[in-house]
Amino acid sequence: MQLKTILNRVEHFKSFVYGKVRWVDADRPTIEVQIEARRNGRPICSGCHHPASGYDRLPERRFEFVPFWGIAVYFVYAMRRVECPACGVKVEEVPWCDGKNQLTTTYRWFLAGWAKRLSWKGVASVFGTTWQDVFRSVKHAVSWGLAHRSLEGIEAIGVDEIQWQRGHKYLTLVTLPPKPSPATM
Ligand SMILES: [Zn+2]
Repeated sequence: MQLKTILNRVEHFKSFVYGKVRWVDADRPTIEVQIEARRNGRPICSGCHHPASGYDRLPERRFEFVPFWGIAVYFVYAMRRVECPACGVKVEEVPWCDGKNQLTTTYRWFLAGWAKRLSWKGVASVFGTTWQDVFRSVKHAVSWGLAHRSLEGIEAIGVDEIQWQRGHKYLTLVTLPPKPSPATM
């Protein structure tokens, strides 16, 4: 079975394909997996999340993925820039990573998951990464959690009008958030 087959099973992208896979000379066994954009796919603007015309291409970058069998795995991709009518020239949005991050989103969630069971230093040493990368992964998971929680809060104070019986009688329905329990106060 090819590594590409495994990757397509665990991390499949609609508009990108896996290309060449190669060994790299490094302190630890390392594999680089080339990623290519599909020819018919237009790049997505990272500002407004809409497709836009291509502008140019930046130098290749490496994005660290989850290591396996003690082998470090990196995706290699040259990000395109788009010329967006709304945002101007912007770097494209890619599904495996956000912003200027060196770690793929999947790897960050992986590290943050282990950081619940082991110390940050322990996680870094087991997976051959740095304490800072584990810290950033935990921070990412926490801020995602906070953003998610605040959305739930908006739902909980939703106000709606419902029609009461027939005709033009309306009731205003207000959903209140639950009272905080003593444990969270
Ligand atoms: Zn845009």
